[in-house]
Amino acid sequence: MSSGSSMYTRNNVSSTRRPLLCFHGRKPVLRISLTKDNPGRRFWGCVYYNVQQECSFFRWADPDSEYFAIELGKMKKVIETLKLRAVVAERHLTLSVVLEMIGWILVIFLWLHFSGSCSC
Ligand SMILES: [Zn+2]
Repeated sequence: MSSGSSMYTRNNVSSTRRPLLCFHGRKPVLRISLTKDNPGRRFWGCVYYNVQQECSFFRWADPDSEYFAIELGKMKKVIETLKLRAVVAERHLTLSVVLEMIGWILVIFLWLHFSGSCSC
């Protein structure tokens, strides 16, 4: 019974999914793109890359929509982080402006106080 179910599973997989092969007829290797346009994106490439004459086989491992969904998620996190930093920076700026105004008021007050008392 268990061998029958495993046969079914193997047949099911082989009928629905063809094995990915490069132009050498070998199973390709999963690599990670280091290009500026697609950094960190996974792709399948020839097993002989940098070993011997590789073929020009190339296929993205993640469908475009999946890859861009992941990238979009990363960008949304970056945007949220930047928004948070902008809010913190804005508060620091407001605080520094208020402190500067208090400082100037104090300077003017002290200047008026001492200049008025030293009218002798
Ligand atoms: Zn190949």
